[in-house]
Amino acid sequence: MTITHHPGDETLAAFAAGTLDEPRSVVVAAHVALCPNCRAKVAAFEQVAGTLVERTLPAASRSGALDDALARLDEAAPPAPVIREARPDCPGVLAPYDVGPWRWIGPGVYWRKVEVPQSEGTRVFMLKAAPGSSLPHHGHSGIEWTCVLQGAFRHDFGRYGPGDFDEADDTVDHTPFVEQGDQCICLVAMQGDLELRGWLGKLLQPFVRL
Ligand SMILES: [Zn+2]
Repeated sequence: MTITHHPGDETLAAFAAGTLDEPRSVVVAAHVALCPNCRAKVAAFEQVAGTLVERTLPAASRSGALDDALARLDEAAPPAPVIREARPDCPGVLAPYDVGPWRWIGPGVYWRKVEVPQSEGTRVFMLKAAPGSSLPHHGHSGIEWTCVLQGAFRHDFGRYGPGDFDEADDTVDHTPFVEQGDQCICLVAMQGDLELRGWLGKLLQPFVRL
């Protein structure tokens, strides 16, 4: 798997510090599970965050107590994520959440809800699109973060294949189309309502209201 598009360092640092909201964290986690580079960065950011905490603690608590606490954290650390390419339609990061059934939303395009608690209007869903299909032309009013799990799509900013992470915001108004080959399956965190344009969009709108 060759991953070309990664989350920005700011995003990875926020993810490592636990300050990203849950919907966005889930999509970043899906990328990190597939990307050794970003796993290493997250580990480095976690280490820096740990050092900062240590520096800001009063001297007394820097003694054995903190070391003990950190040692316990290490013991409790979860094992390295298992790469589950075999099940792109339900990656390991979704294990804690209920995932709804695939629903048809347009020619060759399916959608399903992932029950991650919403945060500031951001929610999580999966999209599955047939090779050669294009996702309905859409705009939206906030962030749209996507991790490709299988297949590939292209839009104005490049090609996104398995593991690639697309960190778009509302300045982007695009029509991704799916490459020939595999079905394209993506995990998406989107803020705001998806606004579908054109007659197809109008037709699909009721289906994609989450
Ligand atoms: Zn990466």
